[in-house]
Amino acid sequence: MPEQQSEAQHFAKNWQLQLAEAFNTVEDLCHYLQLSPAALPVSATAAQAFPLRVPLSFAACMEKGNPHDPLLLQVLPVETEMAVYPGFSNDPVGDLPAATQSSVLHKYHGRVLLINTGSCAINCRYCFRRNFPYADLQLGKQKENAAVQYIEEDASISEVILSGGDPLLLNDSRLSSLIERLNNIKHLKRIRIHSRLPIVLPARITEELISILSPSPKQIVLVVHCNHANEINKRVINACKALKKNGITLFNQSVLLKGINDNAEILCELSEQLFSHGIIPYYLHLLDKATGTGHFEVSEPEALALIKQVQATLPGYLVPKLVKEQAGAASKQYVFR
Ligand SMILES: *Cc1c(COP(=O)(O)O)cnc(C)c1O
Ligand code: SF4
Repeated sequence: MPEQQSEAQHFAKNWQLQLAEAFNTVEDLCHYLQLSPAALPVSATAAQAFPLRVPLSFAACMEKGNPHDPLLLQVLPVETEMAVYPGFSNDPVGDLPAATQSSVLHKYHGRVLLINTGSCAINCRYCFRRNFPYADLQLGKQKENAAVQYIEEDASISEVILSGGDPLLLNDSRLSSLIERLNNIKHLKRIRIHSRLPIVLPARITEELISILSPSPKQIVLVVHCNHANEINKRVINACKALKKNGITLFNQSVLLKGINDNAEILCELSEQLFSHGIIPYYLHLLDKATGTGHFEVSEPEALALIKQVQATLPGYLVPKLVKEQAGAASKQYVFR
Protein backbone atom coordinates (compact mmCIF):
# COMPACT_ATOMS: atom_id res chain seq x y z
CA MET A 1 0.00 0.00 0.00
CA PRO A 2 1.42 3.45 -0.86
CA GLU A 3 2.71 5.23 2.25
CA GLN A 4 0.58 8.35 2.13
CA GLN A 5 -2.73 6.62 1.58
CA SER A 6 -5.43 6.10 4.18
CA GLU A 7 -7.19 2.76 4.54
CA ALA A 8 -10.43 4.39 3.42
CA GLN A 9 -8.74 5.47 0.17
CA HIS A 10 -7.48 1.93 -0.38
CA PHE A 11 -10.89 0.36 0.19
CA ALA A 12 -12.53 2.85 -2.18
CA LYS A 13 -10.50 1.35 -5.04
CA ASN A 14 -11.67 -1.51 -7.22
CA TRP A 15 -10.67 -5.07 -6.41
CA GLN A 16 -7.88 -5.28 -8.97
CA LEU A 17 -6.20 -2.19 -7.53
CA GLN A 18 -6.70 -3.46 -3.99
CA LEU A 19 -5.10 -6.72 -5.05
CA ALA A 20 -2.19 -4.88 -6.67
CA GLU A 21 -1.65 -3.08 -3.37
CA ALA A 22 -1.64 -6.27 -1.29
CA PHE A 23 1.31 -6.66 1.09
CA ASN A 24 4.09 -8.61 -0.59
CA THR A 25 6.96 -8.27 1.85
CA VAL A 26 7.34 -9.30 5.47
CA GLU A 27 8.74 -5.84 6.22
CA ASP A 28 5.69 -3.96 4.94
CA LEU A 29 3.26 -6.26 6.70
CA CYS A 30 5.22 -6.05 9.97
CA HIS A 31 5.41 -2.28 9.72
CA TYR A 32 1.64 -2.13 9.29
CA LEU A 33 1.15 -4.45 12.27
CA GLN A 34 3.64 -2.56 14.45
CA LEU A 35 5.84 -5.62 14.78
CA SER A 36 9.57 -5.91 14.36
CA PRO A 37 10.51 -8.54 11.74
CA ALA A 38 13.72 -9.18 13.67
CA ALA A 39 11.67 -10.37 16.64
CA LEU A 40 9.76 -12.90 14.53
CA PRO A 41 10.96 -16.33 13.32
CA VAL A 42 10.66 -15.25 9.67
CA SER A 43 12.57 -17.03 6.93
CA ALA A 44 13.78 -15.34 3.76
CA THR A 45 14.21 -18.76 2.14
CA ALA A 46 10.58 -19.65 2.84
CA ALA A 47 9.47 -16.26 1.50
CA GLN A 48 11.47 -16.81 -1.64
CA ALA A 49 10.01 -20.26 -2.24
CA PHE A 50 6.42 -19.09 -1.68
CA PRO A 51 6.09 -15.32 -1.45
CA LEU A 52 4.10 -13.49 1.17
CA ARG A 53 0.86 -12.11 -0.23
CA VAL A 54 -1.86 -10.53 1.93
CA PRO A 55 -4.58 -8.08 0.91
CA LEU A 56 -5.07 -5.19 3.32
CA SER A 57 -8.67 -6.22 4.04
CA PHE A 58 -7.35 -9.44 5.60
CA ALA A 59 -4.38 -7.80 7.35
CA ALA A 60 -6.78 -5.25 8.84
CA CYS A 61 -8.40 -8.13 10.78
CA MET A 62 -5.11 -8.91 12.53
CA GLU A 63 -4.37 -7.59 15.99
CA LYS A 64 -1.64 -4.94 15.90
CA GLY A 65 1.46 -5.85 17.89
CA ASN A 66 0.49 -9.52 18.32
CA PRO A 67 3.13 -11.88 16.87
CA HIS A 68 0.82 -14.87 17.56
CA ASP A 69 -2.22 -13.46 15.82
CA PRO A 70 -4.11 -16.42 14.27
CA LEU A 71 -4.45 -14.63 10.93
CA LEU A 72 -0.82 -13.54 10.81
CA LEU A 73 0.31 -17.13 11.45
CA GLN A 74 -1.56 -18.22 8.30
CA VAL A 75 0.52 -15.96 6.04
CA LEU A 76 3.92 -15.35 7.67
CA PRO A 77 6.86 -17.24 6.04
CA VAL A 78 8.66 -18.84 8.98
CA GLU A 79 11.74 -20.97 9.66
CA THR A 80 9.75 -24.06 10.66
CA GLU A 81 8.61 -24.37 7.04
CA MET A 82 12.11 -25.55 6.20
CA ALA A 83 11.90 -28.47 8.66
CA VAL A 84 11.43 -31.95 7.22
CA TYR A 85 8.43 -33.95 8.44
CA PRO A 86 8.06 -37.64 7.56
CA GLY A 87 5.06 -38.33 5.34
CA PHE A 88 4.93 -34.80 3.92
CA SER A 89 5.45 -34.41 0.16
CA ASN A 90 5.02 -32.01 -2.73
CA ASP A 91 1.86 -33.66 -4.02
CA PRO A 92 0.13 -35.20 -0.99
CA VAL A 93 -3.21 -35.61 -2.73
CA GLY A 94 -1.77 -37.11 -5.91
CA ASP A 95 -3.55 -34.60 -8.15
CA LEU A 96 -0.57 -33.03 -9.78
CA PRO A 97 -0.02 -35.41 -12.72
CA ALA A 98 -3.72 -35.25 -13.61
CA ALA A 99 -3.97 -31.50 -13.05
CA THR A 100 -1.11 -30.55 -15.33
CA GLN A 101 -2.46 -32.57 -18.27
CA SER A 102 -5.96 -31.18 -18.34
CA SER A 103 -7.91 -28.59 -16.37
CA VAL A 104 -10.60 -31.10 -15.43
CA LEU A 105 -10.20 -33.28 -12.36
CA HIS A 106 -12.87 -35.95 -12.40
CA LYS A 107 -12.26 -37.95 -9.24
CA TYR A 108 -15.72 -38.17 -7.70
CA HIS A 109 -19.03 -39.31 -9.15
CA GLY A 110 -21.15 -36.57 -10.69
CA ARG A 111 -18.73 -33.75 -9.93
CA VAL A 112 -15.82 -32.39 -11.85
CA LEU A 113 -13.35 -29.88 -10.62
CA LEU A 114 -12.18 -27.28 -13.10
CA ILE A 115 -8.85 -25.60 -12.40
CA ASN A 116 -9.23 -22.05 -13.60
CA THR A 117 -6.11 -20.30 -12.46
CA GLY A 118 -3.08 -21.17 -10.39
CA SER A 119 -3.00 -17.96 -8.43
CA CYS A 120 -4.68 -16.66 -5.30
CA ALA A 121 -5.18 -13.26 -3.69
CA ILE A 122 -3.50 -14.51 -0.54
CA ASN A 123 -0.74 -17.02 -0.02
CA CYS A 124 -1.66 -19.34 2.84
CA ARG A 125 1.40 -21.05 4.24
CA TYR A 126 -0.49 -24.29 4.99
CA CYS A 127 -1.67 -24.71 1.40
CA PHE A 128 -0.71 -27.69 -0.78
CA ARG A 129 -0.65 -25.21 -3.67
CA ARG A 130 2.61 -23.76 -2.34
CA ASN A 131 4.51 -26.48 -4.16
CA PHE A 132 2.52 -26.36 -7.42
CA PRO A 133 3.95 -25.16 -10.71
CA TYR A 134 1.23 -22.55 -11.10
CA ALA A 135 2.09 -21.40 -14.58
CA ASP A 136 1.08 -24.81 -15.92
CA LEU A 137 -2.34 -24.57 -14.36
CA GLN A 138 -3.83 -21.59 -16.16
CA LEU A 139 -7.09 -22.29 -17.92
CA GLY A 140 -6.25 -21.12 -21.43
CA LYS A 141 -8.96 -20.98 -24.09
CA GLN A 142 -7.86 -24.31 -25.52
CA LYS A 143 -8.02 -26.07 -22.16
CA GLU A 144 -11.35 -24.41 -21.47
CA ASN A 145 -12.75 -25.72 -24.75
CA ALA A 146 -11.54 -29.21 -23.93
CA ALA A 147 -13.02 -28.97 -20.42
CA VAL A 148 -16.42 -27.81 -21.65
CA GLN A 149 -16.47 -30.57 -24.23
CA TYR A 150 -15.59 -33.15 -21.58
CA ILE A 151 -18.50 -32.01 -19.42
CA GLU A 152 -20.90 -31.89 -22.37
CA GLU A 153 -20.08 -35.45 -23.30
CA ASP A 154 -20.66 -36.98 -19.86
CA ALA A 155 -24.28 -36.78 -18.76
CA SER A 156 -23.41 -38.23 -15.34
CA ILE A 157 -21.81 -34.91 -14.41
CA SER A 158 -24.34 -32.78 -12.55
CA GLU A 159 -21.99 -30.33 -10.89
CA VAL A 160 -18.99 -28.32 -12.01
CA ILE A 161 -16.67 -27.02 -9.34
CA LEU A 162 -14.62 -23.97 -10.26
CA SER A 163 -11.43 -24.17 -8.29
CA GLY A 164 -7.84 -23.11 -8.48
CA GLY A 165 -6.05 -21.21 -7.18
CA ASP A 166 -8.94 -18.86 -6.88
CA PRO A 167 -11.49 -18.90 -9.72
CA LEU A 168 -12.83 -15.47 -8.79
CA LEU A 169 -9.48 -13.99 -9.80
CA LEU A 170 -10.64 -14.48 -13.38
CA ASN A 171 -11.88 -11.17 -14.72
CA ASP A 172 -15.58 -10.62 -15.33
CA SER A 173 -15.43 -11.22 -19.04
CA ARG A 174 -13.58 -14.57 -18.73
CA LEU A 175 -15.85 -15.66 -15.92
CA SER A 176 -19.03 -14.60 -17.64
CA SER A 177 -18.18 -16.43 -20.85
CA LEU A 178 -17.31 -19.58 -18.90
CA ILE A 179 -20.51 -19.44 -16.84
CA GLU A 180 -22.51 -18.91 -20.01
CA ARG A 181 -21.00 -21.98 -21.61
CA LEU A 182 -21.79 -24.01 -18.49
CA ASN A 183 -25.33 -22.61 -18.39
CA ASN A 184 -25.88 -24.16 -21.81
CA ILE A 185 -25.06 -27.68 -20.69
CA LYS A 186 -28.44 -29.29 -20.07
CA HIS A 187 -27.45 -32.05 -17.63
CA LEU A 188 -25.61 -29.69 -15.28
CA LYS A 189 -27.59 -28.84 -12.17
CA ARG A 190 -25.10 -26.84 -10.17
CA ILE A 191 -22.10 -24.60 -10.55
CA ARG A 192 -20.00 -24.53 -7.42
CA ILE A 193 -17.28 -21.97 -6.83
CA HIS A 194 -14.55 -22.52 -4.25
CA SER A 195 -13.08 -19.13 -3.41
CA ARG A 196 -11.34 -17.42 -0.53
CA LEU A 197 -11.96 -13.97 -2.08
CA PRO A 198 -15.21 -13.18 -0.24
CA ILE A 199 -13.11 -13.45 2.95
CA VAL A 200 -9.74 -12.00 1.95
CA LEU A 201 -10.72 -9.57 -0.83
CA PRO A 202 -14.44 -8.89 -0.41
CA ALA A 203 -14.22 -6.02 -2.90
CA ARG A 204 -14.28 -8.75 -5.57
CA ILE A 205 -17.98 -9.28 -4.83
CA THR A 206 -19.23 -6.52 -7.11
CA GLU A 207 -22.66 -5.96 -8.58
CA GLU A 208 -21.21 -7.00 -11.94
CA LEU A 209 -20.04 -10.30 -10.50
CA ILE A 210 -23.43 -10.94 -8.97
CA SER A 211 -25.09 -10.10 -12.27
CA ILE A 212 -22.99 -12.82 -13.91
CA LEU A 213 -23.80 -15.47 -11.31
CA SER A 214 -27.28 -14.76 -10.17
CA PRO A 215 -29.28 -15.08 -13.44
CA SER A 216 -27.82 -18.55 -14.10
CA PRO A 217 -30.46 -21.27 -14.55
CA LYS A 218 -28.13 -23.53 -12.55
CA GLN A 219 -27.99 -23.43 -8.78
CA ILE A 220 -24.95 -21.44 -7.73
CA VAL A 221 -23.06 -22.58 -4.66
CA LEU A 222 -20.16 -20.61 -3.26
CA VAL A 223 -17.84 -22.28 -0.78
CA VAL A 224 -15.82 -19.64 1.03
CA HIS A 225 -12.74 -20.52 2.98
CA CYS A 226 -12.57 -19.05 6.46
CA ASN A 227 -10.48 -20.52 9.26
CA HIS A 228 -11.12 -18.15 12.13
CA ALA A 229 -13.96 -15.85 13.22
CA ASN A 230 -11.56 -12.89 13.24
CA GLU A 231 -11.47 -13.08 9.43
CA ILE A 232 -15.07 -11.91 9.24
CA ASN A 233 -15.14 -8.11 9.11
CA LYS A 234 -17.78 -5.62 8.00
CA ARG A 235 -16.72 -5.80 4.35
CA VAL A 236 -16.90 -9.61 4.39
CA ILE A 237 -20.35 -9.48 5.97
CA ASN A 238 -21.65 -7.09 3.32
CA ALA A 239 -20.23 -9.19 0.49
CA CYS A 240 -21.87 -12.35 1.87
CA LYS A 241 -25.14 -10.53 2.40
CA ALA A 242 -25.19 -9.43 -1.25
CA LEU A 243 -24.44 -12.94 -2.47
CA LYS A 244 -27.07 -14.49 -0.27
CA LYS A 245 -29.70 -11.92 -1.19
CA ASN A 246 -29.16 -12.90 -4.81
CA GLY A 247 -29.90 -16.56 -4.27
CA ILE A 248 -26.37 -17.89 -3.97
CA THR A 249 -25.95 -20.67 -1.41
CA LEU A 250 -22.98 -20.10 0.89
CA PHE A 251 -20.94 -22.79 2.60
CA ASN A 252 -17.63 -22.63 4.42
CA GLN A 253 -14.67 -24.93 4.53
CA SER A 254 -11.78 -24.58 6.97
CA VAL A 255 -8.51 -26.30 7.52
CA LEU A 256 -7.73 -27.42 11.07
CA LEU A 257 -4.47 -25.65 11.90
CA LYS A 258 -2.28 -25.96 14.96
CA GLY A 259 -1.98 -22.71 16.87
CA ILE A 260 -4.69 -21.07 14.75
CA ASN A 261 -8.03 -22.81 15.22
CA ASP A 262 -7.25 -26.07 17.07
CA ASN A 263 -9.47 -25.17 19.96
CA ALA A 264 -13.13 -26.06 20.49
CA GLU A 265 -14.10 -22.58 21.60
CA ILE A 266 -12.54 -21.01 18.50
CA LEU A 267 -14.24 -23.56 16.22
CA CYS A 268 -17.61 -22.95 17.89
CA GLU A 269 -17.22 -19.20 17.56
CA LEU A 270 -16.34 -19.62 13.88
CA SER A 271 -19.48 -21.69 13.22
CA GLU A 272 -21.66 -19.20 15.12
CA GLN A 273 -20.23 -16.21 13.27
CA LEU A 274 -20.49 -17.87 9.87
CA PHE A 275 -24.08 -18.90 10.36
CA SER A 276 -25.11 -15.50 11.70
CA HIS A 277 -24.03 -14.16 8.28
CA GLY A 278 -25.78 -16.82 6.24
CA ILE A 279 -22.85 -19.19 5.72
CA ILE A 280 -23.27 -22.88 6.59
CA PRO A 281 -20.24 -24.76 7.96
CA TYR A 282 -19.47 -27.57 5.50
CA TYR A 283 -16.04 -29.14 5.90
CA LEU A 284 -13.27 -28.99 8.46
CA HIS A 285 -10.28 -30.47 6.65
CA LEU A 286 -7.35 -32.21 8.19
CA LEU A 287 -4.20 -30.71 6.74
CA ASP A 288 -2.98 -32.07 3.40
CA LYS A 289 0.55 -33.22 4.13
CA ALA A 290 2.39 -30.83 1.82
CA THR A 291 6.09 -30.10 2.21
CA GLY A 292 6.62 -27.03 4.38
CA THR A 293 3.37 -27.34 6.33
CA GLY A 294 4.22 -29.94 9.00
CA HIS A 295 4.14 -27.44 11.86
CA PHE A 296 0.42 -26.83 11.23
CA GLU A 297 -0.57 -30.45 11.66
CA VAL A 298 -3.19 -31.45 14.21
CA SER A 299 -3.23 -35.23 14.69
CA GLU A 300 -6.33 -37.28 13.92
CA PRO A 301 -7.03 -38.18 17.57
CA GLU A 302 -6.69 -34.52 18.58
CA ALA A 303 -8.97 -33.47 15.74
CA LEU A 304 -11.59 -36.04 16.75
CA ALA A 305 -11.50 -34.91 20.35
CA LEU A 306 -12.00 -31.32 19.22
CA ILE A 307 -14.92 -32.06 16.93
CA LYS A 308 -16.58 -34.03 19.72
CA GLN A 309 -16.37 -30.98 21.94
CA VAL A 310 -17.91 -28.88 19.17
CA GLN A 311 -20.64 -31.51 18.74
CA ALA A 312 -21.40 -31.40 22.44
CA THR A 313 -21.85 -27.62 22.23
CA LEU A 314 -23.59 -26.72 18.97
CA PRO A 315 -26.64 -27.87 17.01
CA GLY A 316 -25.75 -30.52 14.45
CA TYR A 317 -26.04 -28.13 11.49
CA LEU A 318 -23.28 -25.93 12.90
CA VAL A 319 -20.82 -28.82 13.23
CA PRO A 320 -18.62 -29.03 10.11
CA LYS A 321 -17.83 -32.50 8.78
CA LEU A 322 -14.30 -33.46 9.76
CA VAL A 323 -12.72 -34.84 6.59
CA LYS A 324 -9.45 -35.72 5.01
CA GLU A 325 -8.38 -36.19 1.46
CA GLN A 326 -7.12 -39.62 0.52
CA ALA A 327 -5.47 -40.26 -2.82
CA GLY A 328 -7.54 -42.67 -4.89
CA ALA A 329 -10.66 -42.63 -2.67
CA ALA A 330 -14.17 -42.13 -4.13
CA SER A 331 -14.89 -39.13 -1.89
CA LYS A 332 -13.44 -37.08 0.93
CA GLN A 333 -12.98 -39.37 3.91
CA TYR A 334 -15.01 -38.65 7.01
CA VAL A 335 -12.96 -38.91 10.16
CA PHE A 336 -14.83 -40.59 12.99
CA ARG A 337 -14.46 -43.25 15.56
C1 LIG B 1 -13.00 -32.03 -2.85
C2 LIG B 1 -13.22 -32.38 -4.25
C3 LIG B 1 -14.50 -32.36 -4.81
C4 LIG B 1 -15.72 -31.98 -4.02
O1 LIG B 1 -16.05 -32.91 -3.06
P1 LIG B 1 -17.40 -32.72 -2.22
O2 LIG B 1 -17.35 -33.80 -1.22
O3 LIG B 1 -18.53 -32.79 -3.17
O4 LIG B 1 -17.32 -31.35 -1.61
C5 LIG B 1 -14.66 -32.74 -6.13
N1 LIG B 1 -13.60 -33.10 -6.89
C6 LIG B 1 -12.35 -33.11 -6.39
C7 LIG B 1 -11.23 -33.52 -7.28
C8 LIG B 1 -12.11 -32.74 -5.07
O5 LIG B 1 -10.86 -32.74 -4.60
S1 SF4 C 1 -5.83 -22.24 -2.59
FE1 SF4 C 1 -6.90 -21.43 -0.77
S2 SF4 C 1 -5.61 -22.07 0.96
FE2 SF4 C 1 -4.36 -22.22 -0.89
S3 SF4 C 1 -3.28 -20.27 -1.01
FE3 SF4 C 1 -5.13 -20.11 -2.26
S4 SF4 C 1 -6.63 -19.21 -0.88
FE4 SF4 C 1 -4.98 -19.99 0.40
